[in-house]
Amino acid sequence: MKINILTLFPDMLEPLRQSMLGRAIENGIIELDVTDIRDYTEDKHNRVDDTPYGGGAGMVMQVQPILDAYEAKGYGGEFIYMSPRGEMLSGALAEELSKADEITILCGHYEGVDQRALDMLNAREVSIGDYVLTGGELPAMVLVDTVARFIEGVLSKEESVMNESIYSGLLEYPQYSRPAEYRGEAVPEILLSGDHGAVDLWRWEQSLALTKERRPDLFEKYLESEPELSKKEKAILDKYR
Ligand code: SAM
Repeated sequence: MKINILTLFPDMLEPLRQSMLGRAIENGIIELDVTDIRDYTEDKHNRVDDTPYGGGAGMVMQVQPILDAYEAKGYGGEFIYMSPRGEMLSGALAEELSKADEITILCGHYEGVDQRALDMLNAREVSIGDYVLTGGELPAMVLVDTVARFIEGVLSKEESVMNESIYSGLLEYPQYSRPAEYRGEAVPEILLSGDHGAVDLWRWEQSLALTKERRPDLFEKYLESEPELSKKEKAILDKYR
């Protein structure tokens, strides 16, 4: 998948080249192309923003460098503008975007972007939450990371995005690793029993209890989905209803 990012601060996107995403880029599963919009300004002082028509605070990113950068780089695919007024990022949206061959993401700054750039590129606005950040680079990284997890080959074979919190319908159970005891705190005995069926059941009950406590909305949805359950699971679920 080709992911293009238009930004005024390309260095802010360097963390995308680390860890699992870095590996996916090295292996050619993801092609990441980051473009500095400023390289395409026609302003002799290298400016990329100006005051808003009609007055008001702050500066607006101008249409010319954005359009020229997009066209000069030959970018395509769905054009996404990271914006607090956009549709909310969700697992479903990430999965949808992960099926594309190419997407292009615009990171805003200051007061935002000249509306004509968004209209001319038919932008889909996407928000990562009901709060306002200083720029679109962190939101773009959130979007790319969560989209990448749905792309085949990004996660290892044993990992499945659908086993994680939220996507599985429940929050994830608590995880433990070595040592079995630390400062008097022991790992739950069942995890050391070697009884995989009992471990799975214990984890499922933990997930159920956590979801009911922290996300009653998800818990209700889970009940409504009428999941296929074993007799033992049904008995456990009845305790939590
Ligand atoms: N004036 C804009 C408004 O009220 O909608 C906010 C501009 S914000 C200070 C600067 C840039 O940060 C935005 O253009 C956008 O790219 C990015 N941004 C801020 N909060 C965001 C969020 N919650 N989700 C996605 N992008 C966000």
